[in-house]
Amino acid sequence: MKTALITGITGQDGSYLTELLISKGYLVHGIVRRSSTTARARLDHLFHREDIYNKQLFLHYADLADTTTIRRIMLKCVPDEVYHLAGQSHVGASFEIPETTCEFTAMGTLRLLEIIRDLERKPKFLHISSSEIFGRPDQAPQNEQTPMRPVTPYGIAKAFATQMVTLYRESFGLFACNAICYNHESPLRGESFVTRKITRAAAAISRGLQDSVSLGSLDGRRDWGYAAEYVEVMWRMLQHEQADDFVVATGSDFSVKDFLSASFRTVGLDWKNHVTQDPRYMRPSEGTRLVGDPGKAERVLGWKAKTTLPKLAELMVQADLEKLDRVAV
Ligand code: GDP
Repeated sequence: MKTALITGITGQDGSYLTELLISKGYLVHGIVRRSSTTARARLDHLFHREDIYNKQLFLHYADLADTTTIRRIMLKCVPDEVYHLAGQSHVGASFEIPETTCEFTAMGTLRLLEIIRDLERKPKFLHISSSEIFGRPDQAPQNEQTPMRPVTPYGIAKAFATQMVTLYRESFGLFACNAICYNHESPLRGESFVTRKITRAAAAISRGLQDSVSLGSLDGRRDWGYAAEYVEVMWRMLQHEQADDFVVATGSDFSVKDFLSASFRTVGLDWKNHVTQDPRYMRPSEGTRLVGDPGKAERVLGWKAKTTLPKLAELMVQADLEKLDRVAV
């Protein structure tokens, strides 16, 4: 039986990964921030399973800045694999709180690498990197060789963390990998990301609960995949014989307008009648044409994204409709 330790276990990816690893028979340990009580809802169904909670799934409380506690947890759990998913992951928010973003996203990763470097039995390490490291790239699609040109505090912090992971692999021999993930969404996506904001609004508008939704720029293009599929490739990366970095993407990009159109079509509405724009949601700078080339992940790991637009928007709107209907009952 393998043991995994997950940072950011209460997040979207953390909850999908936990389900995947539990289904594979892993013992799963998760690190939870004391403050993240509300976010734990994503794992609620597992907490209530007597055969799982505190038998196959264990939670430990620590802040990523709390090196001593993290080291103690690592020594206690003796993980075979560490999945580092935690960090302030909202690009827009990173302009408001750049120091916190760098503290958790950049330094938090370095601290974990330093702890692992000192361990006698070193676990394999997976870091979720981000397409934001490419910022405004010269080429589209981007691959593992594309130079990093981040243009947001989050992207800059992620570029630091990504390069540290590569350095620790090459210089200290750690089995450390970067999953360079493009945007990945699901019904569990945080409500302030544009996709979920749109699917919740489409559901609520169709039920007559609100009239419109206020957004920022509609021109940004993203390579949107389905989070439940992305955790599979994270696991495969650590089962591969060699540690390496992989772009994780669908290979197709769509605009915010495309996402709006697919979401509102699901409920039989025209998005143009329900969207207003608000400068509050505009960003000081943005990445452009972020679309990934997932060719290496397919060749080496046999992984390919299956769900993209419009299916992705449809399944998210359906889930939000079901949620509203459950509350209404
Ligand atoms: P990320 O920035 O790529 O991590 O993902 P987001 O979902 O936060 O944003 C994706 C795109 O949607 C970006 O180009 C945003 O500028 C754009 N966008 C437009 N309106 C909104 C909004 O109200 N909230 C967010 N989060 N993004 C918006």
